[in-house]
Amino acid sequence: MRRTKIIATLGPATDRLEVLRDVIASGADVLRLNFSHDGWDVRYRRIEEARSMAGELGRCVGLLGDLQGPKVRIASFRNGTARLDDGAEFFLDPGLGHNAGDARGVGLNITTLSEDVVEGDTLLLDDGNVELSVSKIRGRRVHCRVVHGGVVSDHKGVNKLGGGLLSAPALTGEDCEDLKLAAKAGLDWIAVSFVRDGADIEAARQLIRASGGSAHIIAKIERSEALENLDEILDAADAVMVARGDLGIETGYEGLIGLQKSIIRRARDRHRVVITATQMMESMIDRPVPTRAEVSDVSNAVMDGSDAVMLSAESAVGEYASAAVAAMASICEGAEAWMPARNESSPVTEGDFQRVDEGIAKAAMYAANHMDVRAIAALTESGATALWMSRIRADIPIFALTRHTGTQRRVTLYRGVVPVAFDVTHTRPEELFRAVFECLRDAAGLKAGDLVIVTKGAIMGVSGHTDSMTVLQLEF
Ligand code: PGA
Ligand code: MN
Repeated sequence: MRRTKIIATLGPATDRLEVLRDVIASGADVLRLNFSHDGWDVRYRRIEEARSMAGELGRCVGLLGDLQGPKVRIASFRNGTARLDDGAEFFLDPGLGHNAGDARGVGLNITTLSEDVVEGDTLLLDDGNVELSVSKIRGRRVHCRVVHGGVVSDHKGVNKLGGGLLSAPALTGEDCEDLKLAAKAGLDWIAVSFVRDGADIEAARQLIRASGGSAHIIAKIERSEALENLDEILDAADAVMVARGDLGIETGYEGLIGLQKSIIRRARDRHRVVITATQMMESMIDRPVPTRAEVSDVSNAVMDGSDAVMLSAESAVGEYASAAVAAMASICEGAEAWMPARNESSPVTEGDFQRVDEGIAKAAMYAANHMDVRAIAALTESGATALWMSRIRADIPIFALTRHTGTQRRVTLYRGVVPVAFDVTHTRPEELFRAVFECLRDAAGLKAGDLVIVTKGAIMGVSGHTDSMTVLQLEF
């Protein structure tokens, strides 16, 4: 059984329903809508198709909406593209109109670039495919020398090596609109791009609440400021994404994997969910098998402790979308098989616990670390107990038994957690344990003599009331 979760991005490839079916059947746990592309007509259709396909396949699948954020982009070229030659001059000028770009220069979607760069800065277009060096600044026009040339097309991203191009908050006007519609559409997760600090997350949370949504928030770590403010971002958000595309440009790629490891560790230590993303299976966009380097990359992200690994273009526009999901799934399993079963020295089990339910969740994992427990059954409303448990150890299946479909879909992202539909309010207390066994017998492959830990609250059906754990030995 695979513990690490897979996020697959929807796109033109999965618009073919047989591809969507195979992507879900091959193991996608969460489907991502990338709001940098398409309008709401397309998004509503994809949401609808994803939900009905998951239903058809009997799979619980979460939906994630990924906001575009304040990404700096060039405007468009007269001919759609321009070839920039090594050593040539090229300028960026917000005053240049739409479609007015050519091999000499192009427009820009922000007006402040000239204030945020100095002579000698490195600017990267199109995720680093073209490198420019700032040579002089004249008014709002930034003149550059082409260090590494190439073909650039309309609206490609612009990053500054070392970061600091953006002074904007993470939510643009368009993001606020998208966020409200995403919350209303009942998406389970919303990813905020180019997060600066905790206040960006608070703003997003207020908008979700005001729209009546219950989505949880993923902070995408992809600019330098986010690294400086990582602790407050972790406190404010439910999850973080190591967004290696933009982050790798802001920080330089040589430091990226060290950052990945420390972001994952710090997220887990603060009880947060963490996703590793971007170019994980890149070669599978047009090839049916991963490179060994990709096998290594995904394996290491799993061994580092990621809750989930993500596919972007591989599933959205790739020719081998479901093969990429299947390959990723088997790499996860291979990496998990290598990992030590018990993780007894997690910082989350040290120090003072803030809440009774937290104490119970951690006590359950302490017991699991010292006994041969087959499965954990957490009777949960919000999924919080399952989250605490999965921070400690995810090699024993943690079944999150809940009556809330929103909770079922959100816990699909937690490593080692399996959502199970179970309505505790429809079960008589004296029959509870039997009902839990019946429900898990097949899913957990339980047999007589097995130990199972059940956590629950004396007041059932109310969030935050877990106050007991029971170690049960199966008799049937
Ligand atoms: P994006 O985010 O794909 O939305 O740019 C991920 C990243 O930057 O790696
Ligand atoms: Mn990004």
